[in-house]
Amino acid sequence: MRMWMLPPEGMCRKHLLGEHVELHMLLGSMRRGKSIEGFLSGGLVDPQQLFARHDELVTEMTRRRFKHTSSIDACECASLAAQYAGRTSINIAANAAELRRRCPDCAHLMQAKNAPTQSKNTIPVG
Ligand SMILES: [Zn+2]
Ligand SMILES: [Zn+2]
Repeated sequence: MRMWMLPPEGMCRKHLLGEHVELHMLLGSMRRGKSIEGFLSGGLVDPQQLFARHDELVTEMTRRRFKHTSSIDACECASLAAQYAGRTSINIAANAAELRRRCPDCAHLMQAKNAPTQSKNTIPVG
């Protein structure tokens, strides 16, 4: 399980849907009281951000017209995550580099997403 925590619009279909599924797996593990120590210590997941991150991914999934029928409950997430407060931190810059290395589609999208700011200095034609 891994929360990439990258801007969802810069992720390919596979990784967007993959992270979404893994959020549901993380919630399932917490519900069953299964240990997620390895994921916490590895900086792979942050239960405290589960609900907000799910929301963010679903917004992007909806924008791309993917079906989403698995809504989750904010109160349940907050109460399950409480015990993990301050236990983990996710290195987003490292995740961006890792995903770019792993997936040409994500690399392409991330680049496209950054394009407008990078080309700030281009002189408008006409
Ligand atoms: Zn969902
Ligand atoms: Zn990808």
